[in-house]
Amino acid sequence: MRGRMMDWPLLISSLIEHAAQNHADAEIVSRSVEGPMHRTTYAEVNRRSKQLAKALGKLDVGFGDRVATLAWNGYRHVELYYAISGIGSVCHTVNPRLFVDQLIYIFNHAADKVLFFDLTFLPLVEKLAAQMKTVRHFVLMTDRAHMPASSPLKLLCYEELLAAEDDDLHWPRFDELTASSLCYTSGTTGNPKGALYTHRSTVIHALTCCATDVFSMSAEDSVCPIVPMFHVNGWAVPYAAAMSGTRLVMPGPALDGASVAKLFNDEGVTFSLGVPTVWLGLIKHMDETGGKFRTFKRMLVGGSAIAPSLVEAFQKRYGVNVRHGWGMSELSPVGTTGTLKRKHMGLSEDEKIQVQLKQGRALYGVEMKIVDAEGKRLPHDGKAQGELLVRGPGVVSGYFNDEEASRAALDEEGWFRTGDVGTIDTDGYLQITDRRKDVIKSGGEWISSIDIENMAIGHPDIQEAAVIGLPHQKWGERPLLIAVPKEGKTPTKEAVTQFIAGKVEKWMVPDDVVFVKELPHTATGKLLKIKLREDFKNHRLPGT
Ligand code: AMP
Repeated sequence: MRGRMMDWPLLISSLIEHAAQNHADAEIVSRSVEGPMHRTTYAEVNRRSKQLAKALGKLDVGFGDRVATLAWNGYRHVELYYAISGIGSVCHTVNPRLFVDQLIYIFNHAADKVLFFDLTFLPLVEKLAAQMKTVRHFVLMTDRAHMPASSPLKLLCYEELLAAEDDDLHWPRFDELTASSLCYTSGTTGNPKGALYTHRSTVIHALTCCATDVFSMSAEDSVCPIVPMFHVNGWAVPYAAAMSGTRLVMPGPALDGASVAKLFNDEGVTFSLGVPTVWLGLIKHMDETGGKFRTFKRMLVGGSAIAPSLVEAFQKRYGVNVRHGWGMSELSPVGTTGTLKRKHMGLSEDEKIQVQLKQGRALYGVEMKIVDAEGKRLPHDGKAQGELLVRGPGVVSGYFNDEEASRAALDEEGWFRTGDVGTIDTDGYLQITDRRKDVIKSGGEWISSIDIENMAIGHPDIQEAAVIGLPHQKWGERPLLIAVPKEGKTPTKEAVTQFIAGKVEKWMVPDDVVFVKELPHTATGKLLKIKLREDFKNHRLPGT
């Protein structure tokens, strides 16, 4: 028997419409690319998104067409998110930090019809335009006053497109399984792969992100997504904020410690989200300037594992509650968050931090299992380590127009292979120990590169660290630590290995330490281990 409830599709347009109805005057504050701070509201963004939707129609953008954006976090990017998906087209966010070859591949593979981009990216777009085979219109996201005097491209002006339209539009109703947005993963091998989200997956994911143990998004908050909207939907913040009427503070391109600290204090930011690199920059600035946070109370860290020293710095010295999260493009993207349970309330501050350092518990709608090399399920006992697989309404079932990658994506039971390795404890907390291809297999045991990296960063003279496995005749592989010393510091190999030796089993201590000025990163700020393995393939470990 079917129930008697309305068959009401979960559409992205309902989020901005809801915000405009119920939080009309809630602000969206942006540090604009042009310079000054800009202030708007949900009502205004809804109105302008409708004008933009009409303008898209005039550019011949229809249902299912892909529209690309190359833009920072700002109000115009929010308008694009809603306008493009709102009319059933696909909002394809492009990460400008990718290599040029990958960018060209992505534009052509997605077959984008129109490209919207911030002024910052004009030189990049002018350079790549001739190789973008499908893009018919290039729209600069600015007003007439900031349009360049000349350009080899025929550029359209965003504000002029909007000004030519009225907002007399009712968001269309269509199937909630319609594709809404597209984000390519920046894998270290092979071509990038497109995660193609649906309206349903996006709305459900935003709803779960609002929950108290996830983002705790509320109409009292002022949230600053440092995590860019050009990658994995800005961790769903633009959607979750509209759903909960949360004031949005958009950082634009200024992501250095000083700019972020000023923005937080000037705009009364209560909650923010970002990758560890951003938080490291912020804490460095605060420590150097002796600054204080006026309103900043909680932060979500994800994208890479968080080091204990960072949690301690924010929680103990600055009173900011740290939440660790894990996710990936293929998961919309948030999979777990590491909030405590009632049973943890009696623990000491340091014991609580041990729980918080894990990647956390699954959001509702994300089911997790870990398996061994043969695909056999392993127990959730906090000890057994295996590859993590997930499934749920916000998890990809394949990739956009890529049958080969899609076939390899799922196991025979239909679970998505994350490529991450970890443990899950009896309370459901996931701990990621490595990427499958980065784990170091030494004498039949697995050494977690993440664990050793975090320990190395705990050394007072080390800024950043990477651990890779090098071939070893006796043990198969042994760890090499590659570390960047803090400015003005000259730690010795012995000091660093002794520091680590006190904290782990003897056989986990790296066989050698190399100091370098900087480490290579991917476009999303992760350590580029493939490059390190190449760079150090001829490195001889002591005794080999
Ligand atoms: P992306 O699709 O670019 O968001 O990258 C997803 C990958 O980032 C995951 O598969 C993990 O390898 C890594 N990752 C994300 N969050 C964390 C975390 N908290 N700790 C360790 N690795 C993480």
